[in-house]
Amino acid sequence: MNYDVIVIGAGMAGLGAALSAQEYGAAVLLVEKAPFAQRGGNARRGSSFRASYGDMARLQPLISSFGQLDPAAVCIPPYSDDDYYHDLMAVTQGEADPELARTLVEESFGTLQWLKTLGVEFELNPKQTVRVGDSWYYPPGGPIQVKGGGESESLSAALFAQVEAKGVHVIYEARVRELLSSDNGGVIGVELDDAGGPRTVLSKAVVLASGGFEADAEMRKLYLGPEWERAKVRGTPYNTGDGIRLAFKVGADKAGDWKGAHAGMIDSRAPDVLSNNRAVRRSFPHGVIVNTDGKRFFDEGEDFEPLLYAKLGRAVLQQPGGIAFQIFDQKVRDLLSPYYKEATRVVASSLKDLAVQLQIAPEALEQTIEEFNRSIADVPFNPGIKDGKCTRGITPPKSNWAQALDSPPFMAFPGVCGITFTFGGVRINPKAEVLNTSGNSIPGLYAAGEVTGGLLYHHYPLGASFMNAAVFGRIAGEHAAKSE
Ligand SMILES: Cc1cc2nc3c(=O)[nH]c(=O)nc-3n(C[C@H](O)[C@H](O)[C@H](O)COP(=O)(O)OP(=O)(O)OC[C@H]3O[C@@H](n4cnc5c(N)ncnc54)[C@H](O)[C@@H]3O)c2cc1C
Repeated sequence: MNYDVIVIGAGMAGLGAALSAQEYGAAVLLVEKAPFAQRGGNARRGSSFRASYGDMARLQPLISSFGQLDPAAVCIPPYSDDDYYHDLMAVTQGEADPELARTLVEESFGTLQWLKTLGVEFELNPKQTVRVGDSWYYPPGGPIQVKGGGESESLSAALFAQVEAKGVHVIYEARVRELLSSDNGGVIGVELDDAGGPRTVLSKAVVLASGGFEADAEMRKLYLGPEWERAKVRGTPYNTGDGIRLAFKVGADKAGDWKGAHAGMIDSRAPDVLSNNRAVRRSFPHGVIVNTDGKRFFDEGEDFEPLLYAKLGRAVLQQPGGIAFQIFDQKVRDLLSPYYKEATRVVASSLKDLAVQLQIAPEALEQTIEEFNRSIADVPFNPGIKDGKCTRGITPPKSNWAQALDSPPFMAFPGVCGITFTFGGVRINPKAEVLNTSGNSIPGLYAAGEVTGGLLYHHYPLGASFMNAAVFGRIAGEHAAKSE
């Protein structure tokens, strides 16, 4: 069997690469490790895309539905290329590769438009908005998601429909074992195992799109640290670092933050491996988070939640027993995400009772909350903006949205670390070419998405991982198709 392009992995980057290569006239084989019923990788359940849309007028034609919202009541702040670049550099503490970051930002809006031509529908993300009076506020950069959200699986459904309609050949339950190299070191195909047994498939180019190593406990332990062995996996069980290992064997360089991962706080009773959004607890800016000692350890209001939640999991993992509790009172009950309705919880009419049920020393929790309540600046509360309603004189501070916990019954939601994806991977350039340790491209080898490193360090802004996979998947597909 010969193809022009072989794409390894049928998630966001792989589907994008396959469709892009096909558009440039390539005969494409898409190899996926998961069975058909579990296809789509992490992309199956994700939803938010971060793009520099400029202003509302430019974004609006992309949105097929405002849902229940009156468009006139929706407040979406402008978001320029520079805003996106600034957010990316801020959360990565200035370490993101500037060339990759610029490419991501500048290609982001065009990539959304491209996805729309491929049948992907977008809507305003109901989970990101906050109602203040008669208006609905969105944080800058994060207003849109795929129609129906992650649970609808509409993104991967649309892209697989295109792949099938356009004649991309997809094989499932197929695992690439080796990359084949020519005498000059260029990649010329793969060896894979599937239902038909082991076989060799030749091609002009190969695109690695096989995700990160989040589902491999040994690699997590080795690169992220020993405590990560016990992290729950929020994503697909199939992203076990295969593509990274394959690339290293043909001389690829490593890049990015090998100690970094996207990890949120998820329900303590969530299964060890799951791929959904329902278990993630993201309303913490409206309350406080304490550990089993009854102590706060995280600035719950440091920034808008989409710029914050993916580093909370790591902070929780570092607490005693790797568990923590989000605590709210009745004042903010209506601000909690709908997923809190089905969450593991403890409710009590006093902080003392709450502490007893959580097995926290009552006096410790009471002291933490009393100090917290006393430290709050006299500034109006406004969940729609960074309101500056902060604490003073306590560590860690809460920098925005600090309100006293004084309206029982109190609610506590126990959560643990759930890893979504890893940040370290193979080094690429803005053409998605894989680079070797001398900085030269490896002929015929491209990569995109989680399998690559260099863009994300320490943390991630909501929606940037999909955009990373989509932008560089599309670029990889184009250049792979043009490969000689
Ligand atoms: C529940 C959930 C919600 C998320 N929400 C968002 C969001 O709202 N916004 C956002 O930006 N990001 C989100 N993410 C992250 C985002 O989905 C991923 O980072 C993105 O899908 C990365 O694309 P990818 O193609 O690199 O990896 P994936 O989409 O995971 O695809 C990798 C594919 O490679 C396959 N594979 C692995 N090894 C092999 C092999 N040896 N041979 C063949 N195939 C292989 C896997 O089975 C998988 O299908 C979410 C993730 C999860 C789990």
